[in-house]
Amino acid sequence: MDYYSSQITKLIEELSKLPGVGNKSAQRLAFHIINMPKEQVECLAGAITSAKANIRYCMECYTLTDQELCPICSSDKRDHKIIMVVENTRDLAAYERTGKYEGVYHVLHGAISPMLGIGPSDIRLKELMLRLQRDVQEVIIATNSSLEGETTAMYISKLVKPTGIRVSRIASGVPVGGDLEYIDEVTLLRALEGRVEL
Ligand code: ZN
Repeated sequence: MDYYSSQITKLIEELSKLPGVGNKSAQRLAFHIINMPKEQVECLAGAITSAKANIRYCMECYTLTDQELCPICSSDKRDHKIIMVVENTRDLAAYERTGKYEGVYHVLHGAISPMLGIGPSDIRLKELMLRLQRDVQEVIIATNSSLEGETTAMYISKLVKPTGIRVSRIASGVPVGGDLEYIDEVTLLRALEGRVEL
């Protein structure tokens, strides 16, 4: 069964643990890596290890960063009174690609899902509520339009409303269940501009 040397098999095995990488792709990647110049392989391996060692959560918005504060939270060009709540760092990146959003973010790292046993305390909601004790004008809820995303949106709006801070939800132009990161910038921008107050 082991046509390759055990080292190659090990590499294929590790690669196939990555999301979206099946056994065939893992083999292709493994042989590609083996044929790469040594420096390039070291560069790749180094980037992986140092990313893992140095990346942490921004102490303000909880996105992934290598500083205490991410570049968005530490920028004085951003409007810190507008907070867009997203499920994950990839969603944040999708909105950043539009280049039109001037507020800051809050990354929940998940969504409420009673079916999967993920409750409000399993995502970064407490941290969001703490931020709202400061001068905030609007919370834009940009969780996905999946069942979990909608449940989370409703939950957040109920929490935020009593504070008197404006709460809005991005327009439902975003395909149901669609991961925000796969949606083009125009659609995202439309969803953002067409947001409705809850
Ligand atoms: Zn941040």
